[in-house]
Amino acid sequence: MSLRKKWISEPAFNTFKKILPPLSATEREAMEAGSVWWDGELFRGKPDWSKLLAYGPSTLTFDEQSFLDNQVSTLLAMLDDHHIVNERREMPEAVWDYLKREGFFSLIIPKSYGGHDFSAYANSTIVARIATRSISAAVTVMVPNSLGPGELLMHYGTQQQKDRWLPGLAKGSEVPCFALTGPEAGSDAGGIPDTGVVCRAEFEGEEVLGIRLNWDKRYITLAPRATVLGLAFRLLDPDGLLGENREPGITCALIPTSHPGVEIGDRHFPMGLAFLNGTTRGQDVFIPLEWIIGGPDYAGRGWRMLVECLSAGRGISLPALGTASGHLATRSTGAYAYVRRQFGLSIGKFEGVQEALGRIGGLTYQLEATRRLTTRALDLNESPAIVTAISKYHMTEMARTVIDDALDVHAGKGIQMGPSNYLAHSYMGIPVAITVEGANILTRNLMIFGQGASRCHPYVLQELEAAANPDQQAGLDAFDILLFKHIRFALGNVFGAFWQGMTGGRLNSSPVAGETAGYYRQLTRMSKALALCADVAMLMMGGDLKRREMLSARLGDVLSHLYLASATLKFYEDNGRPVDELPFVHYAVGRNLYLIADALEGFLQNFPNRPMAFILKALIFPLGKRYKKPLDRHAQAISKQLMSTGGIRERLTWLCYIGEQSEPGLGQLERAFGAMLAVQGLEKTLADAQHDGTLPLKETLTTLLEQAREKGVLTETDIQRLLQADEWRRAAIAVDSFPAEVLARQSRQKTDDVA
Ligand SMILES: Cc1cc2nc3c(=O)[nH]c(=O)nc-3n(C[C@H](O)[C@H](O)[C@H](O)COP(=O)(O)OP(=O)(O)OC[C@H]3O[C@@H](n4cnc5c(N)ncnc54)[C@H](O)[C@@H]3O)c2cc1C
Repeated sequence: MSLRKKWISEPAFNTFKKILPPLSATEREAMEAGSVWWDGELFRGKPDWSKLLAYGPSTLTFDEQSFLDNQVSTLLAMLDDHHIVNERREMPEAVWDYLKREGFFSLIIPKSYGGHDFSAYANSTIVARIATRSISAAVTVMVPNSLGPGELLMHYGTQQQKDRWLPGLAKGSEVPCFALTGPEAGSDAGGIPDTGVVCRAEFEGEEVLGIRLNWDKRYITLAPRATVLGLAFRLLDPDGLLGENREPGITCALIPTSHPGVEIGDRHFPMGLAFLNGTTRGQDVFIPLEWIIGGPDYAGRGWRMLVECLSAGRGISLPALGTASGHLATRSTGAYAYVRRQFGLSIGKFEGVQEALGRIGGLTYQLEATRRLTTRALDLNESPAIVTAISKYHMTEMARTVIDDALDVHAGKGIQMGPSNYLAHSYMGIPVAITVEGANILTRNLMIFGQGASRCHPYVLQELEAAANPDQQAGLDAFDILLFKHIRFALGNVFGAFWQGMTGGRLNSSPVAGETAGYYRQLTRMSKALALCADVAMLMMGGDLKRREMLSARLGDVLSHLYLASATLKFYEDNGRPVDELPFVHYAVGRNLYLIADALEGFLQNFPNRPMAFILKALIFPLGKRYKKPLDRHAQAISKQLMSTGGIRERLTWLCYIGEQSEPGLGQLERAFGAMLAVQGLEKTLADAQHDGTLPLKETLTTLLEQAREKGVLTETDIQRLLQADEWRRAAIAVDSFPAEVLARQSRQKTDDVA
């Protein structure tokens, strides 16, 4: 044995094994699922920006664009979300029929089975556009196109299973749901108590090998209407009928809901929204072994299947809902801030409102940018588990912020429910998006850094594998090589971070020139700081870092904001660097850098080894933490653009359903907004006449206009335009009210329905 191995690698190997708790099979599968993409570059401290820009923009094919322009537009016109949510609590049959007939449930199913075979970007665009009109319809469409029977079958199904199910799923004659969650297993889905015991029993007149199932599931979307149930359970084989392994583990099967013993229970009522969600149970239900997705060979491989599919789906559906909230908030709040007047001014003239508009616009720009980059990865056949977890967490959190801001600006108008309220259902949908497909606290605290640290790091996963090698000598040999590579990497990060700190990152290269060049340099600098801190934290804290979620999540935040900022800069380049987008880029990326520095500071303040925290701080921020919150002038520039028609406002809200101009809600708001902007000049003429004393200062509009007519300040045509704009403005700020007996009748009706 070499001296290096004897004196350095072997003791380090033994310590490494001691501080790292052995990985469970479940943890290992979660860690190994998916691929590493742009996140790897960011984590390792050396992002190659030209690579990012070369990934290319997301585009829609002719068929995808046509589906959006035709089928999606027809669907949107059919949806009356107030009626669906508040009165019917379910989508009308005509809508269900249309969704099935036009293949809304088969966006991802291959054409050979009758599906559309659309890209991830198209899938996300379709779901997002529907969500600006109806969250309930969007969730209904989203579920069959994300984690569920369709996707599992395409990836793992046997040919026979694909032929049996995919054509029906594509046509909509089969409605799928997928049941993993139960009362005792939510976030800890790997711990489901539902079991399937391998046994022999009679099926269709013959004795066959199969599984006797018992399950109790809740929160299952589409279950109340499902014809095919995807079920996750723990497979047990006490009699060894399948082989040596008596506990093969989590397994997924497809079961027709008409199968004897399958019980579809009552509906839940998620935040009052109208998509279908409910329970399912089964007691001693026997199914043949062939119903396991992938066939008997896939017995016990369900967890890996779920983690892999979930890690891709997580980057599409909920980020699409988040982006839709941004588009809706941006479009409506800019217009509302202009047409709503208080203290004699548009409320958008007040700086407090501009601050909120700046946040709405800046974050929506980042939402759209991130949606595009993440779906781009998926369309490049990557399955980047960390990138999709970042997208799920941050995009639903950003959606929460923009919808909160939008509601604050709309105030009472956003609160009073009815057909005129275009924001309330998005607001109600936020907790759903936050909770499903990995609840957000868990996603931030356990997944982003937890998975990122081992997957994105160039050596840690291999070191873990070496430590777990049952052949001690082979493990040590591999570890020895890895350790010295790791030491070189770590030393490079130490010197690199210090150099970055001393030069302020100014000497880093940038793939572009102009106002955004500095951001690339600063992000490279912070990427190096992350590589250093992550390495030191893993080395000094080992397995304890996993339990210290507050510390590790902050490093996850750094990685996340590096990713979000990259997406934003790429989006700006893909769009051809339009000048009117610069305030949005400054706002969003400036905020990312500020939050990165904040997260690093929080990490260092709480790092248990104080001398090391001091050294790290001196290396990373030798001249102090210099990133600032987004500047007021950027928020003001954004708010100005959101209160004007055309340009970036159109491009940033292109997914928004607006509807007919006379339609209560966004249609009426847009009409008023356009009309009020068009009479801006006339309003100024009136105001000037008031100031020079020609017209009185305090009068109702009608009286003022009468006097303006008498004194020749305005022509008759001008007066009619002002009156029309004001009428439309009043319609746009109006809220719904209902006679008490109508509400009482609806309430009685609902009680009767439930009974
Ligand atoms: C509307 C809706 C639709 C759904 N649709 C489906 C479906 O179709 N199929 C299906 O199988 N399931 C579905 N679910 C279930 C969903 O995936 C779970 O609700 C989710 O996994 C969280 O489980 P829980 O609600 O039991 O929360 P819990 O697991 O009880 O978690 C409570 C809180 O603790 C946090 N937490 C838990 N563990 C940790 C940790 N280690 N570190 C940090 N924080 C942690 C969570 O983040 C959460 O904030 C749906 C749920 C809802 C509400």
